[in-house]
Amino acid sequence: MSKGKIGVSTQDLFPIIKKFLYSDHEIFLRELVSNAVDATQKLKTLASSGEFKGETADLKVRVKADKEAGTLTISDNGIGMTAEEVEKYINQIAFSGAEEFLNKYKDAGNAIIGHFGLGFYSAFMVSGKVEILTKSYKEGAKAVKWSCVGTTDYEMEETEKAERGTDVILYLTEEDKEFAGEEKIQYLLKKYCRFLPVEIICGKEKEWKDGKYEDTDRDLVVNETHPKWMCKPSELKPEDYTDFYHDLYPAAPDPLFHIHLNVDYPFTLTGILYFPKISSRLELQKNKIQLYCNQVYVTDTVEGIVPEYLTLLHGVIDSPDIPLNVSRSYLQGDRNVKKISSHITKKVADSLADLFKNNRADYESKWDDLKIFVQYGILTDEKFAERAMEFYLFKNTEGKYFGLEEYKKAIADNQTDKDKKLVFLYASQVDAEYSYIQAAKAKGYDVLVLDGTFDTPFINYMEQKNPDFRFMRVDSDVVEKLIVKEEAAKVALTQREQDDLRGIFTGQMPQTGGMYRVDFEAMGESADPVMITRSEFMRRMKDMAEINPEMGFYGKMGDQINLVVNTDHRLVKELLSEEKEALGDKMKPIVEERAGLQKQKDDIHALNKDVKNEDIPASDKDRLSDLDRQLADLGKKERDLLAAYGKENKRVGQLIDLALLSNGLLKGEALHNFLKRSVDLM
Ligand code: ADP
Repeated sequence: MSKGKIGVSTQDLFPIIKKFLYSDHEIFLRELVSNAVDATQKLKTLASSGEFKGETADLKVRVKADKEAGTLTISDNGIGMTAEEVEKYINQIAFSGAEEFLNKYKDAGNAIIGHFGLGFYSAFMVSGKVEILTKSYKEGAKAVKWSCVGTTDYEMEETEKAERGTDVILYLTEEDKEFAGEEKIQYLLKKYCRFLPVEIICGKEKEWKDGKYEDTDRDLVVNETHPKWMCKPSELKPEDYTDFYHDLYPAAPDPLFHIHLNVDYPFTLTGILYFPKISSRLELQKNKIQLYCNQVYVTDTVEGIVPEYLTLLHGVIDSPDIPLNVSRSYLQGDRNVKKISSHITKKVADSLADLFKNNRADYESKWDDLKIFVQYGILTDEKFAERAMEFYLFKNTEGKYFGLEEYKKAIADNQTDKDKKLVFLYASQVDAEYSYIQAAKAKGYDVLVLDGTFDTPFINYMEQKNPDFRFMRVDSDVVEKLIVKEEAAKVALTQREQDDLRGIFTGQMPQTGGMYRVDFEAMGESADPVMITRSEFMRRMKDMAEINPEMGFYGKMGDQINLVVNTDHRLVKELLSEEKEALGDKMKPIVEERAGLQKQKDDIHALNKDVKNEDIPASDKDRLSDLDRQLADLGKKERDLLAAYGKENKRVGQLIDLALLSNGLLKGEALHNFLKRSVDLM
C-alpha cells in the first residue's frame, strides 16, 4: 500500500467543490458516466488502430445504486488505468486541473454550472469517500485500488479485479443519500446521459405481473446510443423525425417541420431543429433546444449560441466545436460560434425558401404558425431578414396568401397613391373592423389580416426598408382618403357651417376613453353619416408601447379618435338647417356683434398698416386686446349655445353613438342610454 499527498496546494479544495457547485449537485453523475464512456471509446480507438486485440462488441457502462450500503458505483469495461496512470491522471493532473478551474471561476458563481472541466473530482460533491478499482487493458497490468476521504490524502494499493476496466465507488454523504436510489439515478441518467454512445445500464427492465411491476432479468438500458440526429438524413423517414420529437417533448403537438443539421467542415455540427406548433402566444417559450457535445448533454440554454430568434425552436444541437468553459458574452464573439450560428440561419432560411418554392400548399397551410418565428427572425437578424423576403407570406381577409412580390403586383393597379406609393391596407381585428373592410372592398381594395403579436413592429420594419410601400389600417381614415389618388372632394360647407356642426356635436362627445375630435369629410350621400377613424401613426405608437416598455409615454396617452361627419349625408344637412332654424334668432345678435367688433379691429389695423409693431400707439394696442377679449367671450357664448342645443338633440346623440357602437366603443351607461333613446325615437 502506498500513501501520498494529492498534488494540490489548496487545503480546502473539497469544501469549495461542495459549496461551489451546490446548486447543481447532480452533474457529478454526468461527469463520471462521461469518463466511463470515454474509457470505452478510447478502447475502441485502440482496437481500430490495432493496439488492442481483444473484443470490443460488449462495451458497457453500469451504474449501480445500493440503498442499503449507501453507495453508487459507476463501472465500465473500458481501457482502465495502471498504477502509474492513476498517479498521473487522478493524483496529479486532475487535481491541478480542478484547482485551476476553481481559481478561474471563483467569481463566476453560477457560470460554471453545467460546464465541463470538474471531471472526476465532482464525485466529492456528494461523497464522503471515493474508491477507484481499476485494471488496465494492457497485458499483465495489475489492478489498483485508490481511495480518498475528501482530504488531500489518498491511499493506493494493488488489488484483485477480474475484469478489465474501472469501478468508481461513491460512499454518499448523509445529505446526498438520495443518489443511492435507483429511480432517482435512472431519472438523472435520462436527463444527462440519454444519448451517450455506449449502452448505460441501470437496474432491470420491469414487467407488470400479479398486479405490480416486477424486475425481469433483462438489463435496463437507459440511453439511446445512436440518436436520430447522428444518423444521415437519408436513413430517416419523416415519421422518425416526428417520433424523435415526441421522445424529446412528450406533451407537444406534432411539429410544423424539421431541419436536419449535418456539417463536418469547417466545424462539426449535427442536430435536428423543429419549428413547434404553438396554439397560443403565451406558449412562446425559449430554451427548448438542448445542446450536446459529442452526445453528452450540456445545457438547454442556447442563447448566445444560436441566433436569438431561433431560441424559440425546439430540438437538439450537437457540436464539439462550441467552447463550453467560457462565459456567454465570450461565446458570442467566438469564431466557431459565429460560423455555427450563421450556418443555422442559412439552413433555416434555405428550408423555408425551399418549401415556399416547391411545396406552396403545404407551406401556406403552416404559415399561420410559422409567421411568428419568421417575423421574430426578421426583426432581430438582419441576414435572416434579407432572406425572409423570398418566403414571407401575406394573408388577406379572404384567406388567400401572397408572397411579397406577388402582392405588390396584385394591388399595383388599384392601390397606388398619387405619390406612386403602394398602400397595403390591413385589418388587425377582422370582426371589429368589419364595416371598414367592406367599404375598402367596395372600392376594389384588398385587405390584409395583420393580427399577430409582432405585426406592428413588423410593418414598421417593412416601411423603413421599403420606401415604395406603406401600411394603413382600414379604419385609419375614411375610405376615400386611405389611398389618396387625386385631391379629395371638397367639403361643401362654409367655415361658419363647420363651426356650427362642430359645436353641436361637441355637446355630446364622449368625455372619457380617448381624445375625441370632430372632422368633416364629403363622403358621398350613401356613405355613413358619421364614422370613426384612428390615426395610423398614433395607434401604432401605442401598439409599440405595449411591447416596448421604453415607449411607455405613448402607452399612457389616450387613443386619438376622430369622429368624421359626412357633409354629403342627408341627416347631416338636415341637422344643419334645423340648427339654423332653431338657433337663428339667438345667433343673429351674436353674429352681428361679432361682425361689428371685427370691423373695429380691421379699422385699427388699417390705420396702423405701415407702422412698425413697436410704434403702434399704446391706446390702439389696448383697444385691440380689449376687442380680442370681447370676441373670445362671444365665441364662448356661441359655443355654449351650440353645445346646449346639441346636448338636447336626440339625433346628434344617436349619430355619435351609432359610430361608437360600430367600433365597439359604446359601453356601460352610454350603451344603456343609447338603447333607451333608440326606443324613444321609434
Ligand atoms: P477529464 O475527464 O476532463 O480529463 P477527469 O478528472 O474527469 O478529467 O479525469 C482525469 C483523467 O482520469 C481522465 O482524462 C482519464 O485519463 C482518467 N479517468 C477518469 N475516469 C476514468 C475511467 N473510468 N477509466 C479510465 N480512465 C479514467
